[in-house]
Amino acid sequence: MTARTGRGPRRRVYSFGAGKADGRSSMREVLGGKGANLAEMTRIGLPVPPGFTISTEVCAEFEAAGGRVPRQLAGEVAKALRRVERIMDARFGDAERPLLVSVRSGARVSMPGMMDTVLNLGLNDRTVEGLAAQADARFAWDSYRRFVQMYADVVLGVSMERFEHRLESLKERRRVRLDTEIGADDWRRLVGEYFALVEEHTDRPFPQEPSEQLWGAIAAVFRSWKTPRAVTYRKLNRIPEAWGTAVNVQAMVFGNMGDDCATGVAFTRDPSTGARLFYGEYLKNAQGEDVVAGIRTPQPLARENRAPEQAHLPTLEEEMPRAYRELSRIRSTLEKHYCDMQDVEFTIQSGRLWMLQTRNGKRTARAAVKIAVDMAREGLITREQAITRVDADSLEQLLHPTLDPEADKRVIAKGLPASPGAANGSVVFSADSAEAKAKAGEKVVLVRIETSPEDIHGMHAAEGILTARGGMTSHAAVVARGMGKSCVVGCGALQISYERGEFRVDDRVVRAGDEITIDGSTGEVILGRVATVTPELGREFAELMRWSDAVRRLEVRTNADTPHDAKVAREFGAQGIGLCRTEHMFFEEERILAVREMILATDEAQRALALEKLLPMQRGDFVGIFRAMEGLPVTIRLLDPPLHEFLPHEEEGILEVARALGADVAAVRARIEERSEFNPMLGHRGCRVGITFPEIYRMQVRAIAEAACQVAESGVKVRPEIMIPLVSHVGELERLRALVEQEVQRVLGQSRGARVKIAIGTMIEVPRASLVADEIARYADFFSFGTNDMTQMTYALSRDDAGKFLPAYIEAGILTDDPFVSIDRDGIGALVRIGVERGRKTRPDLKVGICGEHGGDPKSVRFCDEAGLDYVSCSPFRVPVARLAAAQAAIAAKSRRRAPRARGARR
Ligand code: ADP
Ligand code: MG
Ligand code: MG
Repeated sequence: MTARTGRGPRRRVYSFGAGKADGRSSMREVLGGKGANLAEMTRIGLPVPPGFTISTEVCAEFEAAGGRVPRQLAGEVAKALRRVERIMDARFGDAERPLLVSVRSGARVSMPGMMDTVLNLGLNDRTVEGLAAQADARFAWDSYRRFVQMYADVVLGVSMERFEHRLESLKERRRVRLDTEIGADDWRRLVGEYFALVEEHTDRPFPQEPSEQLWGAIAAVFRSWKTPRAVTYRKLNRIPEAWGTAVNVQAMVFGNMGDDCATGVAFTRDPSTGARLFYGEYLKNAQGEDVVAGIRTPQPLARENRAPEQAHLPTLEEEMPRAYRELSRIRSTLEKHYCDMQDVEFTIQSGRLWMLQTRNGKRTARAAVKIAVDMAREGLITREQAITRVDADSLEQLLHPTLDPEADKRVIAKGLPASPGAANGSVVFSADSAEAKAKAGEKVVLVRIETSPEDIHGMHAAEGILTARGGMTSHAAVVARGMGKSCVVGCGALQISYERGEFRVDDRVVRAGDEITIDGSTGEVILGRVATVTPELGREFAELMRWSDAVRRLEVRTNADTPHDAKVAREFGAQGIGLCRTEHMFFEEERILAVREMILATDEAQRALALEKLLPMQRGDFVGIFRAMEGLPVTIRLLDPPLHEFLPHEEEGILEVARALGADVAAVRARIEERSEFNPMLGHRGCRVGITFPEIYRMQVRAIAEAACQVAESGVKVRPEIMIPLVSHVGELERLRALVEQEVQRVLGQSRGARVKIAIGTMIEVPRASLVADEIARYADFFSFGTNDMTQMTYALSRDDAGKFLPAYIEAGILTDDPFVSIDRDGIGALVRIGVERGRKTRPDLKVGICGEHGGDPKSVRFCDEAGLDYVSCSPFRVPVARLAAAQAAIAAKSRRRAPRARGARR
């Protein structure tokens, strides 16, 4: 922020128009995204209606002054307005040549549909006649009724619905379907009705004075920063409240002046697939948001982006070839200039093209990957830029299932495929019920006639979104793509009745609560739940991964406990297993009894017997995993959870163990009692079990070593690493390392000369272990930070219960992230750094990694790179996320080294 103390900013208003602009695209902090890009487009010679931007700093002043614009603004606005008048050869409020303007909001990042725009401002009972004389009466009165409705809604707070009502009944009386079929006299009468409505609700006549209209609209834009829906959006997207919005005042151009006029939106590439085709929609003889509001069916821009369902619609390419050609030229100018896919708004007035907005287009994860890779190949950006363009977190979307093409499906309707992926769930008809049901754990599909910004929370909660109206750039489509949710729009066959809580397709009725499936890649709406399959990832994905692998320093491993998971992770590019938990293996049906016998045994002999049963099973597990990971390191953690977790609590289970042990039921129950702990997570678990029951760990080590020998003898390379959990004192590791070494030696001694080397290391998860890492490193070949437990212990936050109050902390702004999702750099991060530094002081070649949820979180991966770790380990589906995040971290590190002082001194 450049706000200065005392008098506020030096300059509040920035002009653009006629090839010159005070602002530029880099000034989005001050001008907002819309204003900055209007200035930039003007600078590079594109046809942009002139106007000016009131800076975001004024929004702060406005709030600080309790909802008043600063006094100094008036002069600056008057001056900028005069410049617009000169360029347009028209005057604001003039009865003969009236200048009309739009008043548009625009924050630093785009917030679709959050802020309200007023069009055609400057019209009143006199200027409307001037406009009519200049063009034609129908157009002039159409513009006037639009203005009165928008102004009343946005500025005066008279609800839109009342106006819509009047409009609908007018259409009914005239037996017409479309706005375009209504003539000047009807519009004139409607404006009269609107005035009456306004007066009824505000006790004041509609403001006729253009400058009163202008200042009313400016204040309304500033106020709209605080509307509940804007606040919700910012909360969901972590946008700071302090940023504020700018106000753009811009000369109107008209797409509603006749059939050689149009308004439209376009993407320079397909935002759904990333394909390099010109993607967009337009409406003839229309204005502003008509296209996205789904008032009429919009037409496709180009033949190449006409869907089969749109075959009967002519394209802009065919209807207005000259304007289309110019738009195509601008498309490539913009891509070359911004080096990114753009989302633009345009209007054609009497055959002449005007650009009204450009911004980096929102896209699906799939499109993001394809666009980044294609642009690098086209030479628009470098490979490193391509890597940083893709949101690592979003990659997971690509790996998730789509509809099984083999599955039976009863397709009942088809709409436009607006955001890919399949979703199923029970039907809900309102955002609130979507939210309520999702909170209760139910999967829902939100079905609406169309969506509006008020529905955001419901869209967030739903698995997928289905609408009856609207095109590929409708609110539902844009928001769903941004959220990475499956979405089908414009499904005209749906007759939705909110009152009855149902929709009909022909004579079939689907009620709230019924299950449906939607396919956002084909537009299909399907009755019931359809099976899904894992999708193909595509060439561009593989390419991006290769580029990432070439620049990253961090190795990426996976957490996997079964050969199947290991194989999946390998296919996603895992370079080893960083955490193989042995306890999951113990829970399997046939084994749990042996495990219980082992725990509840009264003497060594009994325990040995039980362990004997477990040994071949464990060995079999490891053989499968070693084979699946052939040649890659596999870190196996010895038993970690508190033993009582394995014990039976119902009568039946207790009886069964008693029988197996030949013991008295009461005695067994007593022994189970004995094992219970007040605070099990700080109790008898991890290496503490290994210390007290060394025979358990010995059995596990033997199983690992024997499996390794067996696999090695069959000619497959193995690289086992044995990891001791929950070490807090060097003495524990000293003792257990000796045990492991002894057992490994014994097994290897008996083998027929299998070449196996087994590394021995430890988890660093108890805070004390980090502090004494120099001592612990004497007995460890490697460290693996267990930051889940470390967060729990360092923060005194129970992993299992913190969910009850953490959201309140995030809401209150005490925390920005859940520390179990993103590593807490300041606290846990400091302990990790200490552990790494002290460990390597003792053993410079100490290999250090991290396992647990943080390993697949991009922010945490970046921290791991900075802290000098060797690898991260994460769940199989997060492996591509971690590979990309590791590459992004390496690129960030490189740019920090290049500009050490300019940036990142804090880090
Ligand atoms: P949003 O941020 O919701 O997209 P905008 O300010 O971009 O709101 O405007 C809403 C609609 O009005 C858009 O379709 C835009 O192109 C159109 N519009 C805005 N200003 C003008 C103008 N000066 N002339 C013609 N159409 C305009
Ligand atoms: Mg809008
Ligand atoms: Mg816009």
